Amino acid sequence: MGETADMTRCTIRGGRSVIVLLCMGLSVAGGHGQTIVRDIREARDLVEVVRLDSTIHLDIRYATANNFMGRPMYSGPRAFLQHPAAMALVRIHQALKKVGYGVLLFDGYRPWAVTKKFWDETPPQKRKFVASPSKGSKHNRGCAVDLSLYDLNTGREVEMPSPYDEFSDRAASNYQGGTAEQRRTRALLRTAMVAEGFSIEPSEWWHFDYRDWARYPILDVPFESLSTVRH
Ligand SMILES: [Zn+2]
Repeated sequence: MGETADMTRCTIRGGRSVIVLLCMGLSVAGGHGQTIVRDIREARDLVEVVRLDSTIHLDIRYATANNFMGRPMYSGPRAFLQHPAAMALVRIHQALKKVGYGVLLFDGYRPWAVTKKFWDETPPQKRKFVASPSKGSKHNRGCAVDLSLYDLNTGREVEMPSPYDEFSDRAASNYQGGTAEQRRTRALLRTAMVAEGFSIEPSEWWHFDYRDWARYPILDVPFESLSTVRH
């Protein structure tokens, strides 16, 4: 499990007019043999979501100690997604505004090294809530998002059947407990996400995967490096 080899590999890519030789920072994970990509050029389509719409709210818990790890895991409160997924999220936000809500983002792109820390420090009985680093997470591909809604009138986060990142049965997307209003807002979020090409995660009401996730590599590029990527 995890990274068993750190093989540097060269990949030749043919473009229309140039061939780019990439020999930087690629390595291979163990287990399922997924390639972990550390070349910043492979992260060029990641965009910071609030740059597309500054009225999307952020509560990036992994940039604080208020998360299941109990310490900051990110260098800053930032949310990146692959460009098509980010554009879809902006459309979702605009659609929800018409019924009084906005998107509240908890997490988007997550560097692979953070996924590995989650796995290594999570007890085996709770690992259904964290992705195996040997497979990688769709968050690592910049194609998964954790989110809820905020009320446009108050600016406050709405109530869902469980808090974000609660590792319990209440977190299941089809959990039938909670209040009718909590289930209503959960359904509102889900309907809006599915309409734009995101799929649900049965064990977490807040997690959605973008349909084109398989087109993107598992990335391990830190947030700081993404600031230098030109869009
Ligand atoms: Zn997630």
